Amino acid sequence: MLSNQKSVYNFNAGPSALPHEVLEKAQSELVDFKSSGMSIMEMSHRSATYEEVHNQAITRLRSLFSIPENYEVLFLQGGASLQFAMVPMNFLAEGKKASYIMSGAWSDKALKEGKMIGEVYEAASTKETNYNRVPSTEEIQYDEQDAYVHITSNNTIFGTQFHEFPETGNVPLIADMSSDILSRPIDVSKFGMIYAGAQKNLGPSGVTVAIIRKDLLENANSTIPTILKYSTHASNNSLYNTPPSFGIYMLGEVLGWMEQQGGLEKIAKNNEEKAKLIYDVIDNSNGFYTGHAEKNSRSLMNITFRVADEQLEKQFLQEAKEAGFVGLNGHRSVGGCRASAYNAVPYAACQALQQFMVDFQTKNQ
Ligand SMILES: *Cc1c(COP(=O)(O)O)cnc(C)c1O
Repeated sequence: MLSNQKSVYNFNAGPSALPHEVLEKAQSELVDFKSSGMSIMEMSHRSATYEEVHNQAITRLRSLFSIPENYEVLFLQGGASLQFAMVPMNFLAEGKKASYIMSGAWSDKALKEGKMIGEVYEAASTKETNYNRVPSTEEIQYDEQDAYVHITSNNTIFGTQFHEFPETGNVPLIADMSSDILSRPIDVSKFGMIYAGAQKNLGPSGVTVAIIRKDLLENANSTIPTILKYSTHASNNSLYNTPPSFGIYMLGEVLGWMEQQGGLEKIAKNNEEKAKLIYDVIDNSNGFYTGHAEKNSRSLMNITFRVADEQLEKQFLQEAKEAGFVGLNGHRSVGGCRASAYNAVPYAACQALQQFMVDFQTKNQ
């Protein structure tokens, strides 16, 4: 085990590993935040001390993700799941349709919510092959009149990821980036909106980040409840109601850690190297391990695989657990194993998993 880390290797899918340094800093500031005599959790969200934390988190997000000026950055609650409903409520106008690129369970849920609100349809789907790849750009069929095209950038459950995004011209592309936001540089200006629950790559659960092009807010539906309007949160700097202040503080600290890592280029490189350690074992195992995702759709965040024999797979998971690996059980809809190697999962943890997989194969094939 690593002496400065915890005694487990955390491969949880979400909530998931946070940078150890951030947890320690939070611990040191927990009881008495910056000599205020109280915890950040105990103070008014209208206080200058909290406001500084809040605004610093926004500033760091803007800078790390190179978010253009014409985008709002919002901190919301209700997880990505509430966004499945808020997106169509705000942006699916009457008489319009919205299209959804179906690449996994989360796109399914997003589409389902869209159906509750208005007219939606599938722009492409890889359901037929149990979502083992993302649709190619050529397969995606949307209409120039659509209110938006919705996409899930990384499919947490199936272990697939878009490595390029479709050009949707004047139709806003809206992306659920819950499980790969800030894992790599992205051209934000290609999107009308990006949203993500924080608990995979950004911080603890309870905060949802939404990045929205300002002109979309101006034309959004106005006949929905105040709290569900993006414009309410935008015009109040995400302080319309009490925000999840501790979560936002943690998010700001995670972003600070990312800056210290060298920003998104460096983080993307680290993520590539980490995922490669495990994919290499799969590819060199002569079929002992098989990946769920087709190679060109592979996710760098969630690595889904099976062990050749079902009995051996059970044994693999059991022995992995005993060796200190946490969270390797695959999602019930795919089965098998899943290693989630988000930003905060150390290279050394992936190295340890690589070694464990190699040793397990040697002993059991
Ligand atoms: C985890 C996840 C969600 C659900 O997030 P909640 O915060 O639980 O609502 C949605 N989409 C993707 C891609 C996810 O990984």
